Amino acid sequence: MTIETEKLYKRAFEFDRKGWHWPHFNVDELKCDCEHFCEGEYYHSPKFLDALEKMRRILDAPIIINSGRRCAGHNHAVGGAPLSMHTKMIAIDIKIQPHSRKSLYEAAIQCGFTGMGFGVNFLHLDMGRRRRWDYPHAIELWKKELGFNPLLR
Ligand SMILES: [Zn+2]
Ligand SMILES: [Zn+2]
Repeated sequence: MTIETEKLYKRAFEFDRKGWHWPHFNVDELKCDCEHFCEGEYYHSPKFLDALEKMRRILDAPIIINSGRRCAGHNHAVGGAPLSMHTKMIAIDIKIQPHSRKSLYEAAIQCGFTGMGFGVNFLHLDMGRRRRWDYPHAIELWKKELGFNPLLR
């Protein structure tokens, strides 16, 4: 098993971090942090990490991850969609700050993220089927800063 193999680890500590080459991110911020329903699930996806590093390079400022992998119990507890990419594979909700909505949106597309959910204070990103959705009270903020409705693109 090499670090380039995509795989779910039921316990993040069982993942061998030797050879890790995504310097701005780590397993602990991407694993499930419920500390209740699972033992710290981690979904390792080199493709996802490559895209995230590329996005970090373009933005040239920290990308703060609010939520990464979620086990089914945690996902249910936070009201996530049952087939959420947080649970199926890996997805992230990142803080808007210290970026602008526009720079985040443009960098995410440039880096190959295909699923985007628009929140008031966060942006959801995944590499599943191409889709767009919004969270309550958020879309007007995105429309205003982007100059168009990202749900229609
Ligand atoms: Zn969990
Ligand atoms: Zn999300």
